[in-house]
Amino acid sequence: MPAGRDGPGVATRVLVLPFLTVLAERKLAGSPAGLPFGLTMDELNGICAGIRAAGFDVRLMPPEPLPAESFHPGRQQYRSSPILDRARKRLEEAHDLMAKLLVLTDADIYEPGLSFTGGMAELGGKVAVVSLARLQSGDRTKLILRTVKEAVHEMGHVIGLEHCRNSGCVMFQSRSIADSDVKAAAFCAKCKSVAGRAVG
Ligand code: ZN
Ligand code: ZN
Repeated sequence: MPAGRDGPGVATRVLVLPFLTVLAERKLAGSPAGLPFGLTMDELNGICAGIRAAGFDVRLMPPEPLPAESFHPGRQQYRSSPILDRARKRLEEAHDLMAKLLVLTDADIYEPGLSFTGGMAELGGKVAVVSLARLQSGDRTKLILRTVKEAVHEMGHVIGLEHCRNSGCVMFQSRSIADSDVKAAAFCAKCKSVAGRAVG
């Protein structure tokens, strides 16, 4: 293990970019009401803190409206690939060669062939998206925690991790919200060692 491997500043930098449906209609950027499902700034910061706790260096970006071209009027859903295209563009504009970008959205997202998708990531790539639409709960703490788990899971794919057979690991492939509620918001020891210096 090279010296400094666990030192500060080696964790993957994740720019968190909220892409919101409401911003298309209302000019609410930066206000609590403009965040996904009425998330307060404290709750959004809580999500970032949860992602940080899994070993990433997290920076929150100002919310933006969803790319209009991602909307499918027939399905009343947003397609994930134009969202990821926009995310790649935003990442280029950030001029941060080491950073990855995670989109958080309140929109219900899909890809052709799937009725919906909770999240999508480029395996070993740069960008990912997580939708809060199917993670809803009357319990706000639960919504935040589910979002953190999905976000850390998709970022795990971005840094090259595949699914894990350990049902307690964040890289376990949830087939239901119950699976998601059981697993931790952290990488198991095996996934952590595969990730190596990508997580601090
Ligand atoms: Zn996955
Ligand atoms: Zn694992």
